[in-house]
Amino acid sequence: MAIEYVCRWCGFILYKGDKPKSAEDVARYWGGKCPRCLSPISKIPHKIEVLPVRKANQIGEV
Ligand SMILES: [Zn+2]
Repeated sequence: MAIEYVCRWCGFILYKGDKPKSAEDVARYWGGKCPRCLSPISKIPHKIEVLPVRKANQIGEV
């Protein structure tokens, strides 16, 4: 099951992969800002600026 974190403002894919990551990890990786639109990525877990999206793609299931 892959997860995706996308910027809620511009849709930039901040993280995509199979490993579960916290919003804080993603924010830290990008220095707290979306690299495309420079919107701040909140590190507060209950007020995240990124949206985890579940991929339902079953093709190529490992
Ligand atoms: Zn953005």
